[in-house]
Amino acid sequence: MASFLLKDVRIFDGETIIEKGSVLVENGRIAKVSSLDIDYDGTTYNKPGHTVIPGLIDVHVHCDGANEVALPQSLRFGVTTVCDMHNEWPNIQTLRKQRDDGDCADLKTTSFAATIDNGWPMPIVLAHNSDEKTLAELATWPKLVTPEDGRKYVQDRLKEGVDYIKLMHESGLVMGADWKKPSIELQKAVIDEAHRNGLMVVAHATCLEDTVEILEAGADGLAHCFIDQLPNERVLAAYKKNNAHCNPTLCAMGSGTEEGKKMQEKFAHDLRVQHLIGQGEQERMCMCMAFAHHAGATFENAFETVRQLKAAGIEILCGSDAARPAVGTGYGLTMHQELSLFVDACGFTPAEALHSATSAPARRFNFSDRGQIKAGLRADLVLVEGNPMADISHTLDLRGVWTAGVLCSAYKDSLQH
Ligand SMILES: [Zn+2]
Repeated sequence: MASFLLKDVRIFDGETIIEKGSVLVENGRIAKVSSLDIDYDGTTYNKPGHTVIPGLIDVHVHCDGANEVALPQSLRFGVTTVCDMHNEWPNIQTLRKQRDDGDCADLKTTSFAATIDNGWPMPIVLAHNSDEKTLAELATWPKLVTPEDGRKYVQDRLKEGVDYIKLMHESGLVMGADWKKPSIELQKAVIDEAHRNGLMVVAHATCLEDTVEILEAGADGLAHCFIDQLPNERVLAAYKKNNAHCNPTLCAMGSGTEEGKKMQEKFAHDLRVQHLIGQGEQERMCMCMAFAHHAGATFENAFETVRQLKAAGIEILCGSDAARPAVGTGYGLTMHQELSLFVDACGFTPAEALHSATSAPARRFNFSDRGQIKAGLRADLVLVEGNPMADISHTLDLRGVWTAGVLCSAYKDSLQH
């Protein structure tokens, strides 16, 4: 089993900073964290000038078609846990097997989201692809109608051992469309049944009205920030009432309005990470989803909303919405772009940004075995050169990534004892 000592490093443990300390890993778990030296005879990495942070948690991805790049590429970029936010159950089983074979980020899932016939995201899936395979997949999606369907949907997910429930509350406003949205009675039934069984519920919405509606129905968090308008008191109050979180997916929204293109290109072509991403993945990250066809939809609406939510004490969680065959994002890499936007566009300190990608999501999603560098937890660790608390761009100076104490293969030859 994996055991080693990280010595003479700066430690961000998910909450606080130790300027110089040591982290001992034994049998895949964090055994000891100290600002003093730790006596240890085994493998030791002496890393002055480096910082160790908890493995990043991406609270929003889609590993469509059991995409085999998603989990290993996420890990290479320091993302040790991804939360899939809608997928066919057979794909989840395939992905779990891939994860168990190693060198992958861990996978959390809702399995199928609570979809309705012809509701989000069916229209956009069909607009891009209506081949036989796609139609066969869509045929397996839930097509919920009544509150009773909603309760049964949750029971079916419980049998699959899912980690949370995902709702789709999309009217199509931002896309310049008018799509069928699940009824409030249905959404409430799903939420109540999930809560009765200890599952938290996150919801997709991209305009303010849909966001307020689904929060008032009882959602625990949003999987996007709305971009159709600036925030108002109503939406802030709705967030506060539920103590809900917001995973704004700023990068995905910037790809939607095409305002994020320059930044996508900058991250995809960053010289520090060329060996971690394939050419096809890099090219797709530079393209834009361009889904926003509403005159008022802007990147700035999302930035201002995040600023106001944060000021109101609403928890912001980092998640990329990285997906294939969608474009505009890259598994793992987009998390670093999102962290940069939190700092540069939304007024976070770098430590606050890192908190939103480590201990905050672990607590919100009840992943009690990870998210911090603390004795007893999984040794999901990221080693970077430099100090990301002074300059968030250092998160891409990656020097080592461990999942449950096992070093990611991309770092096997470069990490010196
Ligand atoms: Zn999504």
